[in-house]
Order: sequence, then C-alpha cells, then structure tokens
Amino acid sequence: MLGSKGYQKVLGHTQTTIECGHCNNANTWEISETGRKFTLYWIPLFPYGKTYFVSCPICHFGKEIQKSDIETYLNY
Ligand SMILES: [Zn+2]
Repeated sequence: MLGSKGYQKVLGHTQTTIECGHCNNANTWEISETGRKFTLYWIPLFPYGKTYFVSCPICHFGKEIQKSDIETYLNY
C-alpha cells in the first residue's frame, strides 16, 4: 500500500515580534515546513514537495518563503 500524507513541522520562531496585518496582533511568527511524505504500509519513507512558511501563530496568516530565507527569519 503506497500512499502519502501531509505533515507540518515548526522549525522555530522569529526573534522579533511582527505586527500581523490580518488580526493586528504583534507576536513572534512561526517558521514552518510543510510537505507530503510517501508512505509504504503506513511507514513514512521520504518527504517531497516541501514548502516553507512564516506565519502569524494566532490567525495563521502568512507567506511562503524560500529555504534560503529560513536562517534570516530565525534571526529576524
Ligand atoms: Zn494574525
């Protein structure tokens, strides 16, 4: 049974608070990775289609970032 399932992993948070243009809360934003994993008999094999996001932890409004930007946002 080859399948796939989505996953989300929080990589860290920004050092500085960002004011959210969506819910108007100022908070440190979450940097997360989302993607899908191929599974074989429910055993995860490898991830694919990874995308990275920086987003408001309250309303989850955010934007997609490049992998190379992660380090920048972790120190933001
Ligand atoms: Zn928000």
